[in-house]
Amino acid sequence: MTQDLQLTGVRLSYRTRRGTIEALGPIDLTLGEGEFVAVLGPSGCGKSTLAKLAAGLIEPTAGTLTLGGVGIAGPSRRTGVVFQKPNLLPWRTVAQNVMLPAATLGLPAPAARERTGELLALVGLERYAANYPHELSGGMQQRVGIARMLLADPALLLMDEPFAALDALTREALTLELQRIWSQQRKSVLFITHSIAEAVFLADRILVLSPRPGRIVEDYRPPIARPRTPDTLGQPDFNAACHHLRRHFTHHV
Ligand code: ADP
Ligand code: MG
Repeated sequence: MTQDLQLTGVRLSYRTRRGTIEALGPIDLTLGEGEFVAVLGPSGCGKSTLAKLAAGLIEPTAGTLTLGGVGIAGPSRRTGVVFQKPNLLPWRTVAQNVMLPAATLGLPAPAARERTGELLALVGLERYAANYPHELSGGMQQRVGIARMLLADPALLLMDEPFAALDALTREALTLELQRIWSQQRKSVLFITHSIAEAVFLADRILVLSPRPGRIVEDYRPPIARPRTPDTLGQPDFNAACHHLRRHFTHHV
């Protein structure tokens, strides 16, 4: 059974006191198993709304979402999420934070402990298991969030601007690290960003959304070989792909 994420005619409107806000859609999309898809779009176009829908945190106003052919109805261990802020519990250690979802996900404690050790090694934090979040840099905290996201071995990773709050150099390092982790784990990823370069570096496919209500205006496959390395960043193919995408945003900067 493949774990495709499928959206059919998905729309989302928010009801507020001042009326209805059409935030997203209609969106039709199939994200194949193991595919890395980035979503680019202007601020307020519905990117986070798309991530929340796929995570089962909100229900669509119209249309259907399925993962592996099964309807998405609420958060599930099939899906891991990372948002802009890692939302770690300050009074728990790094390892305890990674293990936090285990109970909710029905993962037995011994298995969760073993898996936490492996994941901390994967994100390069094995020496920090017993530290507290405030003892870590922002980039390290976000890596804890990535380890936690991977705890239940989800089929789909949802990442909503996970590196947006970090400084440029940390961001670049984590982008490289994410590509390494993804090449080992081959999960399906929906990666939301407002950085064209980040999208081109990481993704197999890049969906460009229109201003609100966000619709897919381009479904682009950057023709860039894998594995992508720091050298990729300066290559003509890479620059051409960034240039190709930038034309969507010249009126929004
Ligand atoms: P993006 O992540 O692309 O910046 P969002 O998905 O967060 O955009 O929001 C899309 C639109 O929906 C925006 O206009 C935003 O103000 C509105 N919106 C988002 N969440 C809510 C909410 N809970 N209630 C009302 N409006 C919302
Ligand atoms: Mg957002």
